[in-house]
Amino acid sequence: MFDKILIANRGEIALRILRAAKELGIATVAVHSTADAEAMHVKLADESVCIGPPAARDSYLNIPALLSACEITGADAIHPGYGFLSENARFAEILAEHNIGFIGPKAEHIRIMGDKIEAKRTALALGIPCVPGSEGGIDNDEQAIRVAREIGFPVLVKAAAGGGGRGMKVARTEADLLNALHTAKQEAKAAFGDDAVYLEKYLERPRHIEIQILGDGKGNAIHLGERDCSLQRRHQKVLEESPSPALNAEQRAEIGEICAAAMRKLQYSGAGTIEFLYEDGRFYFIEMNTRIQVEHPVTEMITGIDLVNEQIRIAAGSPLSIAQEDVRFEGAAIECRVNAEHPATFRPSPGKIAYYHPPGGLGVRVDSAVYQGYTIPPNYDSLVGKLIVHGRNRTEALMRLRRALDEFIVDGIDTTLPLFRTLVRNGDVQNGDYDIHWLEKFLATGGMDGE
Ligand code: ADP
Repeated sequence: MFDKILIANRGEIALRILRAAKELGIATVAVHSTADAEAMHVKLADESVCIGPPAARDSYLNIPALLSACEITGADAIHPGYGFLSENARFAEILAEHNIGFIGPKAEHIRIMGDKIEAKRTALALGIPCVPGSEGGIDNDEQAIRVAREIGFPVLVKAAAGGGGRGMKVARTEADLLNALHTAKQEAKAAFGDDAVYLEKYLERPRHIEIQILGDGKGNAIHLGERDCSLQRRHQKVLEESPSPALNAEQRAEIGEICAAAMRKLQYSGAGTIEFLYEDGRFYFIEMNTRIQVEHPVTEMITGIDLVNEQIRIAAGSPLSIAQEDVRFEGAAIECRVNAEHPATFRPSPGKIAYYHPPGGLGVRVDSAVYQGYTIPPNYDSLVGKLIVHGRNRTEALMRLRRALDEFIVDGIDTTLPLFRTLVRNGDVQNGDYDIHWLEKFLATGGMDGE
């Protein structure tokens, strides 16, 4: 087992990792930018190292600074969290060259899944159903038109290097297509420095359902069920739940086993998420994330399995702590991503938290790194914290969520708490009757007017 883990991240996920490490009796090192000197992860870690100025490229993405921090503190492994360097295959290789453990999958798997064209090719070869689309990248206009005619409009142009919903453009007609192709390429070039794009059938009313998997890197792999992340704004998840209101136990077992079998073949190591769109009873692979995800707690709440603990143990060479037949799905869990943003306009609202009171009680979990008097810096994402509730069934989880949201006080900045208070009282949300476009439509038709 590792003696000391350096956490190459900030915010709530840095705290999440720190907690898992402490429970395993492993010492922790926090790193931080100058903007994060007062951050909670710095206060709670055993040691901390300042690794640079506020801009992420000079601090949280600064590989030489992270290596020096390991050297100074004697850390023997790095947990990258999500975002930042978590899906950087070269980073994983550099750590290996320096004899530092990387708490994540093998570099080759990060690389394959980081290129969405390669990821789809691999998924198909592993027996995972995919969205119909171009076989590889789209090189020219004629090919785009030919493929679009084959799969049928509407189509979606997507960036091979995509992430965060960027470089994605819908084309409903042939006339739209070339324009969509060129803007998607430009956006992808600007955001990722890579203008490779591909085409996919655009699904009109799918749900986003993803499968959590764990592999030991030696050919054992299990699935931990699904998360339904259909409530999205600008292709970004807003609320997630498990189990999905759309699946039954049989469907769960079937798609779960397809994913676990694929990961066994790949000899995948660590935690990963296989993301699907789900429409009319069918699953379509869109991408795989080779890291811990923001919404992982809903899976932890219904399975009782600590995913970060598993990640650390697997990276240290231990086998999986559980077999598939021992995984139990109990009750229902829902997560709200509370952001420092205006609840109707989504204008970012960094600043000082004047008063903070998180909810508590049975079945309530708050993963957050803020505290009263803390100033949220403008340099990073706007996540204030995640409110996760668990109930014996979905109805109980919803009642508990409503109660916990009403108890949650964050003063001094705008937050999206009022959005969730409205959503939890909405009939469609209560019935689980929503697809990936539901929230955008709700907002566009004045769902949050008056806020
Ligand atoms: P990113 O890596 O940028 O997040 P994804 O491929 O994971 O991109 O897609 C993000 C979201 O975009 C999905 O959850 C879904 O809402 C939407 N999306 C992606 N592919 C399609 C598709 N073929 N049809 C309809 N919506 C899609």
